[in-house]
Amino acid sequence: MIVVLKDNPNQKKLDNLIQWLKSLNIDIHVSEGRNTTILGLIGDTSVVDIDLISALDIVESVKRITEPYKNANRKFHPDDTVLDISGVKIGGGSFHFIAGPCSVESMKQVCSIAESVKSAGAHMLRGGAFKPRTSPYAFQGMREKGIEILLEAKKLTGLPIVSEIMDFSQISLFEEVDMIQVGARNMQNFELLKELGKINKPILLKRGLSSTLQELLMSAEYIMAGGNEQVVLCERGIRTFETITRNTLDLSAVPLLKSMTHLPVIVDPSHATGLSHLVKPMAMAAAAAGADGLMIEVHNDPANALCDGQQSLTPEAFADLVNSVNHILPHAYRSNR
Ligand code: PEP
Ligand code: MN
Repeated sequence: MIVVLKDNPNQKKLDNLIQWLKSLNIDIHVSEGRNTTILGLIGDTSVVDIDLISALDIVESVKRITEPYKNANRKFHPDDTVLDISGVKIGGGSFHFIAGPCSVESMKQVCSIAESVKSAGAHMLRGGAFKPRTSPYAFQGMREKGIEILLEAKKLTGLPIVSEIMDFSQISLFEEVDMIQVGARNMQNFELLKELGKINKPILLKRGLSSTLQELLMSAEYIMAGGNEQVVLCERGIRTFETITRNTLDLSAVPLLKSMTHLPVIVDPSHATGLSHLVKPMAMAAAAAGADGLMIEVHNDPANALCDGQQSLTPEAFADLVNSVNHILPHAYRSNR
């Protein structure tokens, strides 16, 4: 249930209302927008008399909502959430590029890619230290050492870093990582999501291989319900019957999610398509669809990459992509080089 308050409500009356709702075991999420304050009532609202609340003189309107995601719901929080990720402000209409290799392979590789994506206009560096691979015999990532290398590249370039966590036992290793990625395969690892809800760090939550948008938002809800409201959603393609592309990029997810939630939404055309020549057109389409940013795999030597070389762009192709995407964006949001 949401309660929309009138402008400048009497503070004493508001405190009384909140007190009364709390006595009914209802949690309150207060959202102060530019013009309106909204109370989100979380819990068993069947005990709340909607007519009684509507009649209060500080209340503009009351609505029952049926969506099971409350914290992530735009109805509770009409303004876009803008997350400050070590100085990079994602959401609210701006546009950001996150770029880097699928996996961290060496200090030299990551530092060289970090420098070139930065000069091409990237705002954050990505790189997998822990890799979720289909085969146990495939390269599993450099693990702790990989995180150390990313932190060195951050020191060198000043780019905040994002890297994937696979299990909550690894949380302490991510203390200096600016945004923690939860990969598609872990989107419904609920114990991991609950632990990430307890920390104060932005989380990049990727859509599961065959997850609905409501399931994605419910996973965000797990993190937010624990108190961590810093979640960025990522559309990265879903499994369909098509096999030419690695996945099928669901671009309608972008405007849909943006109507359902106030959280920032970015697109990963690299994993969505699996083919490097499709990355730029899909990146441009994502920008046109209203995404808040892109995550792009970039490798200095795609042919010899230890992971996902076929979908990785060279630094030159990434610079070209940034250029093309910039042409689609409103002038104020273009990436400065
Ligand atoms: C990745 O970003 O490196 C990755 C493994 O992506 P996804 O979880 O979307 O497959
Ligand atoms: Mn990859």
